[in-house]
Amino acid sequence: MNHARVVIIGGGFAAVKCARTLRKRLPPSECEIIVYSRENHMVFHPLLADVAGASIHPDSAAATIRQMLPGVECSTEAVERIDLAAGEIEFQNDQGQIERTHYDHLVIACGAESNLGIIPGMSDHAFPFKTMRDAVALRSHIIDQLEKAEACSDIKRRKFHLSFVIIGAGFSGVELAGEINDLIRDSTRFYRNFTENDISMTLIHNQDQILPEVSPTLRDFALKKMQRAGIKVLLKTSAAAATPQGVGLQDGSLIPAATLVCTIGTTSSPIVQHLTNVKKERGRVVTDPDMRVAGVPNVWAVGDCAYITNAFDNKPSPTTGQFAEREGRQAADNIVRVLRGEPTLPFYFKPLGQLCSIGGRRAVAEMFGFRVSGILAWFMWRGVYLLKLPSWSRRIRVGTDWAWDLIFPRDLGAFAASQSQHVSRAYYRPGDFIYHRGDPANFFYAIEQGEVEILRGADAEQAETPFAVLGPGDFIGEAALRQNESYLSSIRARTFVRLVVMSRASFSEHVGTMAPLRDIVAESVKRRAENMWLHFPDAKDALTREPLSTFLEPAPAETLKPDSTLEQAVALLTRSTNEFLFILDDQQCLWSVTNGTDLTLAAQMIAYKQAVTRDNVKNVKLREFVSAEPATVLSEESSLVAATTMLEHGLKWIPVVASKTDRHLKGFVRMDKMTYWLLQQAANQVNPKIARTQATA
Ligand SMILES: Cc1cc2nc3c(=O)[nH]c(=O)nc-3n(C[C@H](O)[C@H](O)[C@H](O)COP(=O)(O)OP(=O)(O)OC[C@H]3O[C@@H](n4cnc5c(N)ncnc54)[C@H](O)[C@@H]3O)c2cc1C
Repeated sequence: MNHARVVIIGGGFAAVKCARTLRKRLPPSECEIIVYSRENHMVFHPLLADVAGASIHPDSAAATIRQMLPGVECSTEAVERIDLAAGEIEFQNDQGQIERTHYDHLVIACGAESNLGIIPGMSDHAFPFKTMRDAVALRSHIIDQLEKAEACSDIKRRKFHLSFVIIGAGFSGVELAGEINDLIRDSTRFYRNFTENDISMTLIHNQDQILPEVSPTLRDFALKKMQRAGIKVLLKTSAAAATPQGVGLQDGSLIPAATLVCTIGTTSSPIVQHLTNVKKERGRVVTDPDMRVAGVPNVWAVGDCAYITNAFDNKPSPTTGQFAEREGRQAADNIVRVLRGEPTLPFYFKPLGQLCSIGGRRAVAEMFGFRVSGILAWFMWRGVYLLKLPSWSRRIRVGTDWAWDLIFPRDLGAFAASQSQHVSRAYYRPGDFIYHRGDPANFFYAIEQGEVEILRGADAEQAETPFAVLGPGDFIGEAALRQNESYLSSIRARTFVRLVVMSRASFSEHVGTMAPLRDIVAESVKRRAENMWLHFPDAKDALTREPLSTFLEPAPAETLKPDSTLEQAVALLTRSTNEFLFILDDQQCLWSVTNGTDLTLAAQMIAYKQAVTRDNVKNVKLREFVSAEPATVLSEESSLVAATTMLEHGLKWIPVVASKTDRHLKGFVRMDKMTYWLLQQAANQVNPKIARTQATA
């Protein structure tokens, strides 16, 4: 047998088992094995819920790969690309240079990635639950919420800190809900300011049963026990959005919670996404029965990233640790067979059963055809996972942690896992408040997407009404932050809004050191600080009373579509009596607006960037360079909102749409028409007689 090099990408169940089996079966003189893993440790996922629930220490649920794999070369690198044609993998070394490694056989075992992008706002406001970092950060956050609740004098706010929502009631969601519930309820005795009754733990699942993988009897048992332990289980309920206030459901209601965890949503790893010319099913690489990537005889795929048919039942293998390990082992056996010139075997595995801990020292188990639930199943769960741990040192460590947990309370030390995050993103639904007037100014916001309205009332007692609308590229909170005050107005989301949020410290640092940003912010502060209507109270009153219809001009007959070309836009602008053009979507709703300056700039930039012929530039579609979401006002709003919004944005005119939800274009209003009207009003006040004469004439 020739000396062969086997490269394995991944450091999880499948990769480690594959490397271990290969090393056992082939001596280093026959085979060089290199494992490339992004992290230097393997995570034992079934124990992550225990880490988050503080019943074991984080390092007990992870094992260092190089210590587990003697005789294997381990490289902590993230592989960026697989070049199937050249038989090489590519990664960036520590100096940022691209390096390539050749392989005779490649095993792809890179697992899957969590994908919170499936629900708006989830990536900004929910914890994923896949890596050790996620579990440690979550544990720290939970304990932080208990401390905040203890220090909080406002009852509503205290309950908010003590509200937890877990999305997804598969194995990981159920185990996590049980563990967190145990942690917080057991810990209340160390706090004086709240009791168990203040705690709310909610598990949301879009199907009509939790744990779809286990039998109905065990599911019912698990559900009842969890409900009895104080966990509210919402079945047939789907999360529609996550915001800083909690989780929005599809029926429009909101479950307030300071802690959201999303255990659903996965996507394939980027290296699998970049693999072209191989068959994929739901993002996973489809393999032949022996786990070779279909059509590529020296590349194998195993674990969560692979779509493998199990010869036991001819069904696709589920994405579980149990299967990943078996696949890794059998792929190694098959590689040995290929190297020895023997025929390979199809993947065959009879599942051993299912185990799931549900909290309160209870579990459900289906093993070798037997069903067990309750405390016995819980001991089985712990026993099985203890034996599955990769070394005796780890088994003793986890066993000791668990024994400790049976006798002593859990450790409530919050050792911040994430350094204070200075810049983050936030997502809001229409109607959500970003902040209220009088709240302490702690954040600076830049609008990335959507519209917000500034609400103002004459004084603290007066009801607040919309005063101006801000859109993408605008800032909020800068004046109060710079003057170290509380916020002077309330800000409410008008549409779905995505904001970039900067903490006070980060804002001061960035604005202090970046001159262009400082100038932009200073200009914005000046505009607002002048409080544009302060010296013109009569004008403000007049515009508040005057309906917007007074100034409304009809939308032009000719409009554009997002797919209209630059040439069509220029031609229309030449014919038009206005200096701007409206772009409407297929439903005739406003998509964007553009003008001659935008079009000229775009043409120059596209020509420069693409270095293409004039014809190509003319044919570029508007959607490729015009950004959607222009500032708008609603037809039912006062003229004051329109005027203020135009002044805020330095606009000469603004489009008017039907309502917050209906973006049909109603027309537009111009600043100069309003100014002329205001001058007339002023003239009437100064000399009503002249005004009357003019009116009669
Ligand atoms: C919270 C949780 C609880 C679970 N509980 C259970 C359970 O009780 N029972 C059960 O059977 N299964 C359980 N699972 C599922 C199980 O963990 C997975 O099916 C299993 O981990 C898949 O193994 P894998 O080797 O394919 O991938 P993983 O274990 O995810 O490992 C993938 C590895 O590849 C590495 N990697 C990824 N991309 C690259 C790259 N580009 N370059 C280098 N390295 C890379 C990653 O760092 C990681 O080390 C659970 C999963 C989670 C998240």
